[in-house]
Amino acid sequence: MSSVLAAAAAASPVLATMPPRQRAEALVAAADALLAAADELVPLAMEETGLAEPRLRGEIKRTAVQLKLFADVAAAGEFLGVRLDAADPDFVLGPRPDLRRYLVPLGPVLNFAAGNFPFAFSVAGGDTASALAAGCPVVVKAHPGHPRLSDRTAQIVSAALPPGALGVIHGQEEGVAALRDERIAAASFTGSLAGGRALAEIAAARPHPIPFYGELGSLNPVVVTPDALAERASAIAQGFAASVSGSAGQLCTKPGLLFVPVEFAAAEAFEGVAPHPLLHPGIVDGYTRRRAEILETPGVTVAVEGAVTDDGVTPTLVETDLATLLKHRDTLLQEAFGPLSAVVRYTPGESLGAALTELVEGSLTAGVHIGAGEDSPWLRELVAALQALSGRVLFNGWPTGVAVTPAMQHGGPFPAATNPTTTSVGTAAITRFLRPVVYQDCPQSLLPEPLRDDNPWNVPQHRSPAGESSTWGSLAA
Ligand code: NAP
Repeated sequence: MSSVLAAAAAASPVLATMPPRQRAEALVAAADALLAAADELVPLAMEETGLAEPRLRGEIKRTAVQLKLFADVAAAGEFLGVRLDAADPDFVLGPRPDLRRYLVPLGPVLNFAAGNFPFAFSVAGGDTASALAAGCPVVVKAHPGHPRLSDRTAQIVSAALPPGALGVIHGQEEGVAALRDERIAAASFTGSLAGGRALAEIAAARPHPIPFYGELGSLNPVVVTPDALAERASAIAQGFAASVSGSAGQLCTKPGLLFVPVEFAAAEAFEGVAPHPLLHPGIVDGYTRRRAEILETPGVTVAVEGAVTDDGVTPTLVETDLATLLKHRDTLLQEAFGPLSAVVRYTPGESLGAALTELVEGSLTAGVHIGAGEDSPWLRELVAALQALSGRVLFNGWPTGVAVTPAMQHGGPFPAATNPTTTSVGTAAITRFLRPVVYQDCPQSLLPEPLRDDNPWNVPQHRSPAGESSTWGSLAA
């Protein structure tokens, strides 16, 4: 571990001072190297995770696209947030100095990779792409579910990057030791609530605490309105079953609760789903325990029993109501990581928004299926509640499948994430690994490149000219 951290520390000033376009070229080269190795990496991922080939081929492409998206973010330079306030002797509050602010990389980032996305949230995944684009070297704590894939991916991708920019460590002890190491300046994590919480506390308890960005578990409630159900019950049932069963439900965005106004025959859509292996024995144990707890809860009935066998799992669907959720919230209102979901009856016309606010903690997503042109005070109150509890509000869709695109938000109020102000997918993810600095009255020759008047990196510079303060407040008129 020590040599990986030393290499990351040595790479830190190199990456930080590398012009953003050069950083972008390295990210594109990394993406191309990853894609070129797909025929080697995908079979290795299949062997270690049990995930299906089409899913993994799609995921490796998504991972390369993500690296290229962040290459463009780096090249465009907007992420540096350059603001230049000209010196102003006539400033409304007395003379103003020359102020030049921008964002600088924090330094080496420790990334605890996810088990269920061996490419997209692992060694060359979103956290790595956004940290490298920000100018931070990355040390990945490999997920124990795909250790060989992690090492091989790092070998392939790091060859396209400056030395030390990307390294891998293994094992829980090494991960914790690295998190405590003063050379690590920030950490990101994708995994369970318990793991994320434990690591967040370690990050906060260091002599010099560091930012910790944990993306944790989520219930992802979805509401079906009476109008939507009347229009397309069968399509909703099919979509729900596909979203719960895909990748054996091992997705942080799996819809764990479906709220329906009347009896809803979803069981048929779940029938015939083939067994799918779970990622590793720890997930099998956790899922088996959670499934048993839920099935044994009074007030819960089984719509589709499903099974956990040596061949894999088939989905389990249960039915219950709002009162039972409230009474057994400790059991029913926690994530079951695997293909299990609950259909919950609500009474049309009653305030479902208030019930959701009371019941559901922070979630990555919250969705609603509505009828064509549907709008009402009831629906507006519900949508406001969905916004309050989640990071992504979806209409007439399913939360699994996270688009890799600038506006995406993947995060939310705790326990969806340890820090609700940011995201791990989408271009805003880069802000996690930057901190602001302002230069005051600094001579041009000593200024960092993005802050100079001749702008050698050619990055966007937002200027506040002298004299401006005399008209502040006029935009409100
Ligand atoms: P996990 O058990 O929390 O493991 C994730 C990583 O954290 C592993 O590298 C693990 O290392 C490490 N870790 C966990 N607890 C630790 C501790 N106390 N001390 C030090 N290291 C620790 O998660 P998982 O079971 O692999 O993944 C399933 C969970 O991930 C689900 O809850 C799912 O919802 C969540 N997830 C969230 C997202 C998202 O974007 N929000 C995406 C995917 C998955 P060791 O095993 O080596 O200890």
